[in-house]
Amino acid sequence: MYNKGILLIISGPSGAGKGTVVKELLKEEGKYCLSTSVTTRAPRPGEEEGVSYYFRTEKEFKKLIENGSLLEYAIFCGNFYGTPTKYVEQQLSEGKNVILEIEVQGAIQVKEKYPDAVLIFLTPETIQDLQDRLRGRATETDEVINMRLRRAREEVGLLNKYDYVVLNDLVRNATERINAIVETEKFRAARNLDFSEQFLSKKGVDTNA
Ligand code: ADP
Ligand code: 5GP
Repeated sequence: MYNKGILLIISGPSGAGKGTVVKELLKEEGKYCLSTSVTTRAPRPGEEEGVSYYFRTEKEFKKLIENGSLLEYAIFCGNFYGTPTKYVEQQLSEGKNVILEIEVQGAIQVKEKYPDAVLIFLTPETIQDLQDRLRGRATETDEVINMRLRRAREEVGLLNKYDYVVLNDLVRNATERINAIVETEKFRAARNLDFSEQFLSKKGVDTNA
C-alpha cells in the first residue's frame, strides 16, 4: 500500500496555533519533517536563522523568485514569505511526510502544482479566541494584531479551497485529528492505483475458470 510521503499544508489565521501544533506533530519521531520558509519579516525574540525562518532582505527574496527557487510565495501583512522548492522535493522523494506551515495564497499555489497535497485549515472555535491568543502571545503590536484579525476574516472565507478544517480547541486534540487525516489519506484509492497490479500478481489463480 501507499508508502510515499504526503505533502501536508497547515494554514489558518495568525494566532490559530499552527506553530504550536506543528511543534507537537514533530515530536513524533520520524513521522514528519517541516519545511523552513524564507521571509522578509524581522525575527521575533528567540527566533533563529535557518530554524524559524531564513530571514532575508526584500532584494534577496526577489532574487529567489527570479531564480525559480521557490515552490510558492506570497505577501502577508506587508512581508514576503516563500517555500524553498529543493528541500520539499528531496524529502518527498525519500518518502517523508512534509509539512508546510503557510498562508492561504501559498496553499492554493501548492495545490495547483501538487494536486495530491492535503490542505488543512487549522482554527480556534471563534475569532474571539483568536484575538485572545494573539494578545496572549504578545509578539505583535495592537496595530499588527488588528491587521492580522482583519486578514483572518478573509482567510476563513477561503475555507472552500481546503480539504479539511481542524479545530484547535486543545493542542492534543488538534494533533490527533491531523494524524488521523494523514493515516486516512494513505488509504485513498487514488493514491493506491498500483494496488490492482500487486493484487493480481500472484500466479496460480485462474480467473478465467
Ligand atoms: P500561529 O503559529 O498560528 O500564529 P501560535 O502557535 O504562535 O499560532 O499560537 C498563538 C498563541 O496561542 C500562542 O501563545 C500559543 O501558546 C497559544 N495556543 C496555541 N494553541 C492553543 C490552544 N489549543 N489553546 C490555547 N492557546 C493556544
Ligand atoms: P508569521 O509572521 O506569524 O511567522 O507568519 C505569518 C503568516 O505567514 C502565517 O500565516 C504563516 O503560516 C505564513 N507563512 C509562513 N511561511 C510561509 C511561506 O513560506 N509561504 C507562505 N505563503 N506563507 C507562509
